[in-house]
Amino acid sequence: MDFSLTAADRQQWEAARRLASEHLSPVVPAVGCERAGFDQAGWRRLGEFGLFQADLRDPGSSFRRAAHLLEACGTGGADRGLLFAAGAHIFGCLWPLIQLGTPAQHTHWVPRLGTGEQIGALAITEPEAGSAISALATTVTSEGDEVILSGAKTLVTNAPVAHVMLLIAKEFPQRGSLGLSAFLVPTHTPGVTIRPLATVGLDGAPAGDVELNEVRLPRAARLGPAGGGLGVLLSAMQAERTAILAGFLGAAEFDLARCHQYLKNRRRPGEQTSLADHQSVQHTLAEIRCRLEAARWLLYRGLWEVTHGTDRIAWPAMVKKTVSEAVYDCAHKIQCLYAGAGWRNIDRSATAVQDTLAILSASGTTDVQLNTIASQLSKTLVPLT
Ligand SMILES: Cc1cc2nc3c(=O)[nH]c(=O)nc-3n(C[C@H](O)[C@H](O)[C@H](O)COP(=O)(O)OP(=O)(O)OC[C@H]3O[C@@H](n4cnc5c(N)ncnc54)[C@H](O)[C@@H]3O)c2cc1C
Repeated sequence: MDFSLTAADRQQWEAARRLASEHLSPVVPAVGCERAGFDQAGWRRLGEFGLFQADLRDPGSSFRRAAHLLEACGTGGADRGLLFAAGAHIFGCLWPLIQLGTPAQHTHWVPRLGTGEQIGALAITEPEAGSAISALATTVTSEGDEVILSGAKTLVTNAPVAHVMLLIAKEFPQRGSLGLSAFLVPTHTPGVTIRPLATVGLDGAPAGDVELNEVRLPRAARLGPAGGGLGVLLSAMQAERTAILAGFLGAAEFDLARCHQYLKNRRRPGEQTSLADHQSVQHTLAEIRCRLEAARWLLYRGLWEVTHGTDRIAWPAMVKKTVSEAVYDCAHKIQCLYAGAGWRNIDRSATAVQDTLAILSASGTTDVQLNTIASQLSKTLVPLT
C-alpha cells in the first residue's frame, strides 16, 4: 500500500493550498462570531480549479484526488463550511451518480456538477428518521411514465443552494430498507419547497428542510433500479464517511500551526520565555499533532480500501468515527490553549469547535458508526487458527 502522491498530484496539492490561502479563507473579523454564509465566489473558484472534476474512466483516482485536494485546501486555511459543502456535493451526490448512473444521466449531470456550475445535495434524513433508515417515510408512487414523490427531508447540506438532490424514498414499504429507491430531483421541480435552516456551526455550508408535495418526475430520474436505493445510499455513505472530512484534517493542521505561533509570540511581561516553552503546553501541542497524524493515516487507508479493497462498510465507518472525533477533540484543545482569546474567537478557534461539533453527527453519529463496525467484526477480525 503506497499512499504517496505523484509529483503531478503534489503540484496540484500545493496549488490547492495556495488557492485556499489566497481566496478561500474567511474574511470575517477575527473577533466575533459573525455568520459568513455560503461563499459563492469561493465555490466558483473551486470549480474553476477543477476540484469537482470526475474522470468516468477512472472514478477511483478522481475520488482520492478530490479528498487530497480538500485536505490541501484545509491546510491553506479554507473555511470548513465551504469544504463541507464541497464534500457533500462531491461524495454525497456526484460519486453515487458516477458509480450507478446510466450513460444518459452521466451525459446530463456530470458536466454540470463536475464544473461546479450546478450544486448537488444528498437528501436522506427525515424529521422522524435520522439514524434509522428503515423508518424513512417519503413515498414513491408510479403513474404512467412518471413517479410521484411525497414527504419531507431535513438537515440537507447545500439544499438552499442546490440545483439537484439525490433523494432516497420508500417505494416498496413492505420490503423495509430493501424497498428504498433513489431519485435525482432537480430542485426547481414543481412541488419541491426548500427552507433554509438556522444551525450552529458550519455557516458556510447552508442546510435546509425539503418538502415534497406530489413531485412528479420522469422514470428516468431514478438512480439505480427500483428498490435499489439501499445500494445508492451505501455508495454515498462509503464516500462521505471516508472522504468528507479530509478538508477538516487539513484545517486542523492549519489551526495547530496558528495556535503554536500565537503561543510562541505570547510572553509574560519581564519573561524571556514564551507560553510555548511550557512543557505542559508543548505536550498538548504534541498530543494534537499525534492525534491528527494518526487520523490522517486512517483516512488514507480508508481512501485506499474504498477504491482497491473488499471491505467498503467497516473502513468508512472507522474513518468517519476516528477523524470526526480527532478534529473535534483537537479543536477543543486548541481553543483551551487560546484561553480567553479562544472565548473571543481569536483565529476562529471557537468557530472551529462549533464546526467540528456539527460533523460528529453528519453521515451518521458515532453510535451508528460503532454499530456498523461491530456488525462487520466477524468478517474483519484476523482469523484465529
Ligand atoms: C452537519 C450535518 C450535516 C448533515 N447533512 C446531511 C445531508 O446532507 N443529508 C442528509 O440526509 N442528512 C444530513 N444530516 C443529518 C444526519 O445524517 C443525521 O443528523 C444523523 O443521521 C443522525 O440523525 P438524527 O439527527 O435524527 O439523530 P437521531 O437518529 O435522533 O439520534 C439521536 C441520538 O440517538 C443515538 N442513536 C440513534 N439510533 C441509534 C442506534 N441504533 N444505536 C445507538 N445509538 C443510536 C444517536 O447516536 C444520537 O446520539 C446532517 C447532519 C449534520 C449534523
